[in-house]
Amino acid sequence: MKILMIRPRPEAETIGLQHVMIVEPMELEVLGALRRDYDEVVIVDMILERKPLRHFLELHDPDMICVTGYITNVNTMGAYCATAKALNPRVVTVVGGVHCEVCPEDLDLPGIDYRVVRNPVTVFPLLLEHVEHGAGVPGGVLAPGQRLIEDELPALDFHYVAPDRSLVDGYRDRYFYIFHDKVALLKTSFGCPFTCNFCFCRQITRGLYRRRPLADTLAELESLPQQEIYIVDDDFLADRRFLTAFLDELESRGIRKHYMVYGRADFVADHPDLIERFRDLGLRTVIVGFESFIAEELEQYGKRSDVSANRRAMEILRRLNVECFATIILGPDWDRSHFRRLEKELKALRIHFVNLQPLTPIPGTEFKAPEGTLLLDRADHARWDLAHLSIRPSRLSIPDYYREILRLYNRIVFQPAVLFGHLRRQNWRMLWRMIKGSRRVERQYRLKIDEAAKHWKAEAGRVH
Ligand code: SF4
Repeated sequence: MKILMIRPRPEAETIGLQHVMIVEPMELEVLGALRRDYDEVVIVDMILERKPLRHFLELHDPDMICVTGYITNVNTMGAYCATAKALNPRVVTVVGGVHCEVCPEDLDLPGIDYRVVRNPVTVFPLLLEHVEHGAGVPGGVLAPGQRLIEDELPALDFHYVAPDRSLVDGYRDRYFYIFHDKVALLKTSFGCPFTCNFCFCRQITRGLYRRRPLADTLAELESLPQQEIYIVDDDFLADRRFLTAFLDELESRGIRKHYMVYGRADFVADHPDLIERFRDLGLRTVIVGFESFIAEELEQYGKRSDVSANRRAMEILRRLNVECFATIILGPDWDRSHFRRLEKELKALRIHFVNLQPLTPIPGTEFKAPEGTLLLDRADHARWDLAHLSIRPSRLSIPDYYREILRLYNRIVFQPAVLFGHLRRQNWRMLWRMIKGSRRVERQYRLKIDEAAKHWKAEAGRVH
């Protein structure tokens, strides 16, 4: 079969990190690796392509298309499948990805034949057999109109096959994450052992946590020609014993690469020795979900960490010269003083990269917006991007809340001393790409402020 695998382009409405990071579509590379000898697979990365999807459909004339994405991509995924069907009614359309696995009802759309909701690695070859030879529909795949019934799904199996990275050779040089250029992804585990109630990641594995055998992971790592490795585990710094074994292997195999990982602040704070050793073996950046510097908020989010751990973690990373990309959740009850205090804290800790996320009750998570406060329509998928306000702020108007977000970004990311530091350390191409990307995000926020201000004025006019 000819199979076209498509990574969707973000909608204009989505305020996105895609301006400062584009990484390889690993889930499609994994599916591509599962093809049979006689299947032809092409991956089209619509984030990087300029031509419309129709061009690629006409060029490749596929028997099947597979599209994966996040909640923000739902409409685009549906539109791609509808376009493919309009061009060729016999084409088989398959969708999957993390949102489809948790909320498949959103993708029960005209034009979509199959939704993969469980164990894609096991299911995909069976689905190919079903489509081509009429074998039964595998468990873990929903047909149109079929609802997800957890008890009827097969158990999660966590099988892994190495991605076929050659399928994106044509795009490879354009993948990057902030200042990490030509980055390759590596996955060593599935899920997270923690239970933060706002977190979507844990819903994908239904709260389970599994690690790949270390030898497999290391063999895959050794096979990667890339120097920059982004370990995409939800929490790579979860276990002292595992990390020690991983570092022992890096040392004994003589692997010398640069790493970017996700890790919790409390782990960094409690294991400075390990972080230092990891730094010596190539750790360059830790993405830390600090979430908040307010004790009650950390408690409310179920973070099981504390403010002092956040501060100690940042001090350790700074002392060891390991870069930190910080994630902070902005509460709906914040007023200006909260933003000012956060600015002071971030500056005191010398945090220079920050991702500010208004608290968002992502569909599928335990966290729900208080009654009557939800601003986003559930079907307005493109805006569920962790950048739009989804809960009505109680102490600031919506335009003012967006203004505070933008102001804080500018105060942290564009500090003159920070920019001079980048000028010294980074090459011009990377720096230019980052500045351009940040300015695009800024433009999106300014549009948001204008839109919210107009809406607010119209509302006020109606009241009077
Ligand atoms: S926020 Fe991080 S630590 Fe918490 S459950 Fe999600 S991945 Fe785990």
